Amino acid sequence: MKILVINSGSSSLKYQLFNMETESVLAKGLIQRIGIEDSFLEYENGEGEEIVIEKDIPTHKVGIELLLETLLSDDHGVLESMDEVEAVGHRIVHGGEAFAHSTIIDDEAIKNLEDVADLAPLHNPPNIMGIKVCKELMPDKPQVGVFDTAFHQSMPEKAYIYALPYEYYKKYGVRRYGFHGTSHGYVAKRAAQMMDKPLSELKIITCHLGNGASVAAVKNGKSVDTSMGLTPLEGLVMGTRCGDIDPAIIPFIMDKEDISASEMDDILNKESGLLGVSGVSSDSRDVEDAAAEGNHQAEIAIELFNYRVKKYIGAYTAAMGGVDAIVFTAGIGENSKDTRAGVLEGLEYLGVEVDYEANDCRGKEVFISTADSKVKAMVVPTNEELVIARDTMELVNQ
Ligand code: ADP
Repeated sequence: MKILVINSGSSSLKYQLFNMETESVLAKGLIQRIGIEDSFLEYENGEGEEIVIEKDIPTHKVGIELLLETLLSDDHGVLESMDEVEAVGHRIVHGGEAFAHSTIIDDEAIKNLEDVADLAPLHNPPNIMGIKVCKELMPDKPQVGVFDTAFHQSMPEKAYIYALPYEYYKKYGVRRYGFHGTSHGYVAKRAAQMMDKPLSELKIITCHLGNGASVAAVKNGKSVDTSMGLTPLEGLVMGTRCGDIDPAIIPFIMDKEDISASEMDDILNKESGLLGVSGVSSDSRDVEDAAAEGNHQAEIAIELFNYRVKKYIGAYTAAMGGVDAIVFTAGIGENSKDTRAGVLEGLEYLGVEVDYEANDCRGKEVFISTADSKVKAMVVPTNEELVIARDTMELVNQ
C-alpha cells in the first residue's frame, strides 16, 4: 500500500510518498514560492536522485499536478500509475475542538474545518486548499486529515481554560489547544518502546525544540498539558516567537511605539525569540556560534531558551506527580548537545543523571542519561510524516 502525505502551506507544499509495507519513503519533495515569481519543485526519489523543476506554479492545483507528474515520470518517477496510491494524508494545523483524532475528510469535515479556520488564519486555509485540490485531482482516493492539535484534546479543563471571561471560550473558542501533537505523540510512544515499558504506565515530558518549540506532559500515553496555547505563540522561546510574556506588555509597547495590533502581532511572532533577543539570527546554530564568540545578547538568548524549557520540565513534573522520561526532538532537540545539556543541568534533584558522552550525538534514538539515572533522558528523532501515513492507512483499512 502506498500513501501520499501532503503538508500544504500558503506558498509552499511538502510531500512524501510512503511504501507502507516497509514504511520507507519512495519519494519526497518540496514546492516553493507557489503564486510568487521563481517558483520551483524539488524532488528526490528513494534512490537518491534529486531534481529541481523551475516552473511557473501560480496555484496549489498546478503544484500538485506537477508533483503527481514527477511521481509518474518515466525518467525519475516511482509510480507506474496512480492506482498504486491508496490514499492521501494531509497535515492540518488546527482542528479546534471538532477533531480529537485523525479523520477521513468528507464534506462535513471540510465544513467543520472551515468553521475553525479563523483560529489559524495563516495555516488552515492553505491546508484546506491542499485537500480540496487533491479531492478534485484524485476523486477516487480517500483524503485523511491529521491534526497538530488532536493529541492535546485529552488535556483537562484546568490545563486548557484561560483565566479570561468564560464567554470568550464559549463565543470564540478562546482556550489552549497546543500544537506539534503528532510529534509529541510519536516520540512519547518511541520513548516507551526504548524503555521497554507500557506507554500507559509512564509519565513522559516531550520537548519538541525546532524553529517552533513546545513541551508536552504525556501521562499514561495522553497529553495532559502542553506549552503552546490558542496559537503556537505561547510557551517556550522560539526562533522568532516570544513564548510566554506578561500580556500587559502588548498594549504598553503598542502605545509607546504607536503601532497597530497586526504590527504588534508581527513583532511577537516574527521579530522576537532567539532572533529578537540575540539580534543575530533565528537559527540556533548562528546564535550558538555568536555566543561562543562572546556576543552577550546571543548568550542571553541561549540561556533564556534553555531556562524556559527547564522551567516547563519542573512544571510538568509537578503536573503529573513525577516524571519517568524526558525526550528531546526536532531540529534543536535532535542536534544540539549544548541545549540538551543546558536544559538538563541542575535537574539532578529530580533524578536526572546526564551521560555527557552519550549526549554527544545527533539525530538518532539514544539514551543520554546514565544507566542508573532514575529519570531517563533521551533523543528521539521525530517523524510526523510517518505518523500521518500510518494514521491514513489505518483509517482507510477500517
Ligand atoms: P521547524 O520544523 O520548526 O521549522 P526544525 O525542527 O527544522 O524547525 O528546527 C530548526 C532549528 O533546528 C534551527 O534553529 C536550527 O538551527 C536547528 N538545527 C537544525 N539542524 C541542526 C544541527 N545540525 N545542529 C544544531 N541545530 C540544528
